Amino acid sequence: MAVISRPVIDIKSYKGNIINGKFVPTAKTRHSIDPATEQPLFPAPLATREDLDAAVKHASDAFKTWSQTTFEERAKLMLEYADAIEENREELEKLDTMESGKPAIVSKNEFNLTIQWLRTFATMELKDEILDENDERTVYSTHRPLGVCGAIVPWNWPALLGLGKVGPALMTGNTIIMKPSPYTPYTDLKLCEIAMSIFPPGVFQALSGDDSLGPWMTEHPDIKLITFTGSVRTGKLVAASCSKTLKRCVLELGGNDALIVCEDVDIPKCLPKIATMSFINSGQICMLAKRIYVHEGIYDKFRDAMVEFTKENIKTGGGFEPGVLVGPIQNKMQYDLVKDMYQDVKKSGYQVALDGKVLESTTGYFAEPAIVDNPPDDSRIVVEEPFGPIVPLLKWSSDDEVIDRANSLNLGLGASVWSKDLSRAEKMARKLSAGSVWVNSHFDVAPNVPFGGTKESGLGREWGIEGFKQFTDHTSLWVWKKIFE
Ligand code: NAD
Repeated sequence: MAVISRPVIDIKSYKGNIINGKFVPTAKTRHSIDPATEQPLFPAPLATREDLDAAVKHASDAFKTWSQTTFEERAKLMLEYADAIEENREELEKLDTMESGKPAIVSKNEFNLTIQWLRTFATMELKDEILDENDERTVYSTHRPLGVCGAIVPWNWPALLGLGKVGPALMTGNTIIMKPSPYTPYTDLKLCEIAMSIFPPGVFQALSGDDSLGPWMTEHPDIKLITFTGSVRTGKLVAASCSKTLKRCVLELGGNDALIVCEDVDIPKCLPKIATMSFINSGQICMLAKRIYVHEGIYDKFRDAMVEFTKENIKTGGGFEPGVLVGPIQNKMQYDLVKDMYQDVKKSGYQVALDGKVLESTTGYFAEPAIVDNPPDDSRIVVEEPFGPIVPLLKWSSDDEVIDRANSLNLGLGASVWSKDLSRAEKMARKLSAGSVWVNSHFDVAPNVPFGGTKESGLGREWGIEGFKQFTDHTSLWVWKKIFE
């Protein structure tokens, strides 16, 4: 049996951007910082506009043949790619923790999901549907790939959110250029390096650059779609820029998820998940519980139990330290925003149930979990997404009132209701305006389930067949059969 030789990566070496199946070095390099040590990481390429033009040209050329491949051919390569990532996952997880600050257990989870996502994408075929058929004619609903796509990735989940865009783009016959966040260029570059020996040149390329690269991509006339994950503010800039060429854009933006706890819950049973889903990855996940509404009948008991659980189980520290769930904040800019939020709570005189501290005197961008006790609805900690390990608990008394308060913001990524009474919980859940809503859970995602936001949390959907469709143009194909009889 032939032995397939798989790529083996060196996580310390970055030979260039990946353009048309080759490393293309850049005249200048840049580096990002390990947020746990504040030490510079490795020199990484700094793309120019010419690099982007070259990548777009190669992606357009590659599209001509890649778009003609069959679903089976694409699926075979996607599975091979997932295997190659799996073989390199130990090093990739290390790199992910190093650059994003993410605890090792969360990096492991990110790679579990990334590999599972790619393997599932390989099974998802966007098939033609027959919309109408009679003796005279058949009307099909068909989907054609768009061409060159651009993926703009944030720093919090470089692997899952990066390949969560690449996988569907390639499976639907498009070519794609991935741009990692300047804060976390390394994992994404290595993921594209692994792909070099699997996909034909130009099909999947990666460019690392600075703050100019994203706008160059959104303006580029030959990129047909931008799939973007990031903040609401940047999402609006992306949409405005895409509008100039009327290119499609899919926007996955910020969230400020409400989690509603009813009075009949079994606190010890639901608390571990609720507390973990508030603080894991230092709160730097778009769809964590960011406003926890607890029924007044159990509020004090729930608050005290959450404080106790968090103190005992949710450890802050460097991502490589065993048992850590709260690593450093990923970058200095975000750390300053988080510090400002902690200070605002203090300055405003809100009650604090768990007085987590920003650890300014230690090296690294660390902040401990903090729980704010029933602040006003219009406080910054309630209305703004903190993207740090700080969460408000809020008291409620009637179902209608809490639904109104949960829906009151202009964001709608996720939301959940927790109750033993499934029929009440489901009734409440159906009234929540968010892209994903859970009963007795929070933050479940799956590669075959669409994911995205309502209101300012986003436009369009990723993942699921719904997400695949975003990478295509729809054609209604009318075939008249008997006209020449
Ligand atoms: P960000 O908006 O600062 O940056 C995201 C990406 O956009 C980066 O690659 C950045 O280089 C690029 N970019 C910046 N300015 C640009 C411009 N003008 N044009 C084009 N690209 C540009 O976001 P971030 O700080 O990296 O990520 C944190 C935010 O992302 C949070 O608000 C979080 O809620 C959100 N997020 C959303 C999801 C989701 O799926 N809905 C997932 C993760 C994170």
